[in-house]
Amino acid sequence: MPSFPLSRRGLFQAAGVTAVAAVPALAATAAHAATVPPARSDIGVGAYAFDLGQVQLTSGRLLDNQNRTLAYLRFVDVDRLLYNFRANHKLSTNGAAATGGWDAPTFPFRTHVQGHFLTAWAQAYAVLGDPTCRDKAAYMVAELAKCQANNGTAGFAAGYLSGFPESDFTALEAGTLSNGNVPYYVIHKTLAGLLDVWRCLGSTQARDVLLALAGWVDTRTARLSSTQLQSVLNTEFGGMNEVLTDLYQQTGDGRWLTAAQRFDHAAVFTPLAANTDQLNGLHANTQVPKWIGAAREYKATGTTRYRDIAVNAWAMTVTAHSYVIGGNSQAEHFRPANAIAAYLNQDTCEHCNSYNMLKLTRELWQLYPDQAAYFDFFERVLLNHVVGAQNPADSHGHVTYFTPLNPGGRRGVGPAWGGGTWSTDYTTFWCCQGTGVEVNTKLMDSIYFYNGTTLTVNLFVPSVLTWSQRGITVTQTTTYPVGDTTTLTVTGSVSGSWSLRVRIPAWASGATVSVNGTVQNITVTPGAYATITRSWTSGDTVTVRLPMQLAVRPANDNAGVVALTYGPSVLAGNYGSTTLPALPALTTASVTRTSTSSLAFTATANGATVNLGPFSDAHGFNYTVYWSTDPASYRLVNAASGLVLGVRDMSTADGGLALQWTDSGTADHNWELIVDGSAVRLRNINSGKVLGVQNMSTADGAIVLQWTDNGTADHRWTIVDNGDGTHKLRNANSAKLLGILNGSTGNGAQAVQDPDNGTADNLWRFVPNGARRIQNLGSGLVLGVQNMSTADGGLVVQGGDNGTADHLWTAVVDTGGYLRLRNANSGKVLGVEGASTANGARVLQWADNGTTDHRWRLRYGANGYFRIQCVNGGRVLGVSGASTTAGAQVVIWDDNGTNDHLWRFV
Ligand SMILES: [Zn+2]
Repeated sequence: MPSFPLSRRGLFQAAGVTAVAAVPALAATAAHAATVPPARSDIGVGAYAFDLGQVQLTSGRLLDNQNRTLAYLRFVDVDRLLYNFRANHKLSTNGAAATGGWDAPTFPFRTHVQGHFLTAWAQAYAVLGDPTCRDKAAYMVAELAKCQANNGTAGFAAGYLSGFPESDFTALEAGTLSNGNVPYYVIHKTLAGLLDVWRCLGSTQARDVLLALAGWVDTRTARLSSTQLQSVLNTEFGGMNEVLTDLYQQTGDGRWLTAAQRFDHAAVFTPLAANTDQLNGLHANTQVPKWIGAAREYKATGTTRYRDIAVNAWAMTVTAHSYVIGGNSQAEHFRPANAIAAYLNQDTCEHCNSYNMLKLTRELWQLYPDQAAYFDFFERVLLNHVVGAQNPADSHGHVTYFTPLNPGGRRGVGPAWGGGTWSTDYTTFWCCQGTGVEVNTKLMDSIYFYNGTTLTVNLFVPSVLTWSQRGITVTQTTTYPVGDTTTLTVTGSVSGSWSLRVRIPAWASGATVSVNGTVQNITVTPGAYATITRSWTSGDTVTVRLPMQLAVRPANDNAGVVALTYGPSVLAGNYGSTTLPALPALTTASVTRTSTSSLAFTATANGATVNLGPFSDAHGFNYTVYWSTDPASYRLVNAASGLVLGVRDMSTADGGLALQWTDSGTADHNWELIVDGSAVRLRNINSGKVLGVQNMSTADGAIVLQWTDNGTADHRWTIVDNGDGTHKLRNANSAKLLGILNGSTGNGAQAVQDPDNGTADNLWRFVPNGARRIQNLGSGLVLGVQNMSTADGGLVVQGGDNGTADHLWTAVVDTGGYLRLRNANSGKVLGVEGASTANGARVLQWADNGTTDHRWRLRYGANGYFRIQCVNGGRVLGVSGASTTAGAQVVIWDDNGTNDHLWRFV
């Protein structure tokens, strides 16, 4: 919220708290009051949400969040929240103390937050039947009705309701509003809160106040020309199109749809309808509510343009404007498409934006319930941003406005415009505090959906679903995302055939679905839904296992800046109170899980060990989410053509075609080997994407391309040592080999998968890129030169990785597929003493004079390690006596498979 710089507000401490006034009795006090159903059903929907009260969270992080927010909602003093409304509508403030922050009596858009509280109280009542929250909501509505009824005395038009003068709207319409107010933003919150109280509590008083205020909006906007309206829309107006469309759906009165459509913001909608990304520079959270409104307008009208606007906006935001935690915006603004690494600042990821993206995602998924990607994103932003934005150490569940992604960032440590770091009980009341109380009272709203006899499980959260329409109870137990398994037990009137659909996240390679312990023979595809259709028996248990793996997620704009994920969890490094001047340099191969019962990892970064854990748990210390990395990479030289594997036009997009090209040094020619069991993934250094096969084809000649590293089997390749320095790269999905279309030796020829028919285009050599350390598998030590000698004959030994220049070796391509290995400190190359070919001959450095003992080739072993074989005699590089001590002499030896014969480039 708002784009103008707010000054920090002074604290306004309450001298005394007024007694809670008498609460009008409600007719229906049964827990989980019936929702007032809408008059019109949504168009185009293929999955339906359960009422809030039908799903209960059970023990877990989400329930803890809910409980903390609930404590705050029960605590907060309604009379203090009414202060500005009463004062503005010329009623007594009843001795209540005013509040501070964005609700201070002089703050331009005071009374924006009360609507959030109405929504949160209504939801708390709908979920839990909480009488305190019900009574607070009813009391506030009753008092707002009195404010509205006093408009004649206050000098306001009928229906008006807010904490600031109606004249601000006159100024807005005249283009002269300059006090920083965003008046329709505030009206939207009040309308939405009243609508929720009506729907969840069945409060006819909330309905009447709502319709009167909406009527005021209609009257006020109906008299404006479309040009004037579009001018008004240049000032942030929240989700006015959304709430008025909801009111149309709720009442069936077309007046509200007409009013809603006056808030269709052409400057934003027109490029989105054309799927053109013009988000750069826009205030981010001003836009997302408009897109939710567009989705609602589609569901109310069936006008596909609205749907297209919402779908396109979602896709743009998720793919090109979102950080790894699912949040977007920097200093509240959208930045250029794909600019991520360039904007790792303290003021990234405003909470409201992610709250609204959750709402938008849910709206769109209900239109496309087979598109698991929507809920892959929902889970990502919920677990990593939204849940973690609440302070677990605060009994009132206060939230951070921004979630910093700068190196050494910390939640709750500024900046938050208008004052504060963590929100407080009465002195902040920013937008994000409002969306915080909303989201933490409906964390269960998207776990389960239904359509007829099909139940969809979208989220893996400990919870109980009471599918009362069918008399079925579903109990979900899980420690996810720490554990990789969730269990769903169905009880009640479960008999007869019905279907249970489970989202299989795109990262979950090898997922299984079992019933009563038996793995089901059903299609289980990452990034899709797995469906079990059967005749059920009460007590049947469905077990879903989603194997997790570590993934390196490069930033869109810089493959050398990466984040780490493990299953759905983003991992963060714990830097305590250390300040980080820059992103730590991570050795990606060093990341290791250190516990089976928690998501605890260690890694090496900046040469030291750092502990990592789930980012949602990164509280109370400085962290980093992003890392710099300069991974070792290889050129892949085709044995037939001598050309190297690259990506057409240096594309960084999914589907970029792999081809062979002259070894011209561009970054798309460099591939990182990511060990994946007995196979590897080949990650392009330029794009961050991995090598795969188009459409996961298993056919001969299928096109090889790059794709997001999403865990599909076609991204895994087994390297087969051919014994002569060449290798076959066998696709794990198709068992075909990486080759070149028609065996072409031409520049630009397409890479394809070929049958294993012995042609030379199916053979590849590895050439390491740049100056690299060469690490021994047996000892973990690296190749260096004794005493850092620069002389001919300097002995090559193994040593600790202490960063000296003699530990760096650059591969120089020689004839016949061989390499020379040149020392960065001395400029000399790796050779054998006296050009000996004997077992145990000492390895040393020598001037690069062309003798055959200076020529070596790489032969792949396993787990990213190679044998380094000398052309002169064919023996391989090893360590004398397979020693693991620093200073041990490096020698050549028979290729007999010991660990000291395996080396990797790091
Ligand atoms: Zn906000």
